[in-house]
Amino acid sequence: MQIRIAGIEPESIVDGPGYRFAVFVQGCPHGCAECHNPETHDFEGGTLVDTDEIIDHLGRNPLVRGLTLSGGEPMLKAQALAVIAQAAKARGLNVWCYTGYTLEELDETNDEAQQRLLALVDVLVDGPYVAAQRSLALPFCGSTNQRLIDMKKTRESGSVVLYEPQAW
Ligand code: SF4
Repeated sequence: MQIRIAGIEPESIVDGPGYRFAVFVQGCPHGCAECHNPETHDFEGGTLVDTDEIIDHLGRNPLVRGLTLSGGEPMLKAQALAVIAQAAKARGLNVWCYTGYTLEELDETNDEAQQRLLALVDVLVDGPYVAAQRSLALPFCGSTNQRLIDMKKTRESGSVVLYEPQAW
């Protein structure tokens, strides 16, 4: 399956805890003011690659603890990212995903591919970047409206449970 990406960072230390294999997808509709990744907005930009190519690189580095999906807007590439996330899980990696949508918006849309991807995500960093709420003190996100959501606990409890760093 093909996916248009902005790039890959095979040993990221800023997109979640520990060393992470980060995939940045190409294309974002949110238009957040002062976005740090404006080069990822154009849906025709970036590079078209096969998910098998990405999966081939997953887990090669034993120091890498997880997969991070970022962008761009990952939820608009949910079908291909679910394939990659599934492979990451099979290699024992945890999965983080950033999105400019809120979890409530995604659940209301109830898109089948997005829900399949969400079922594979351990931590969802949700909501758009809001420059007026920017904070440098936040771990792994840029503005105070964004949440680090523990998806397993959230699905089990039926209401949003935030990620606790010590659990990882
Ligand atoms: S969702 Fe992310 S990539 Fe898209 S405009 Fe907002 S900050 Fe930029």
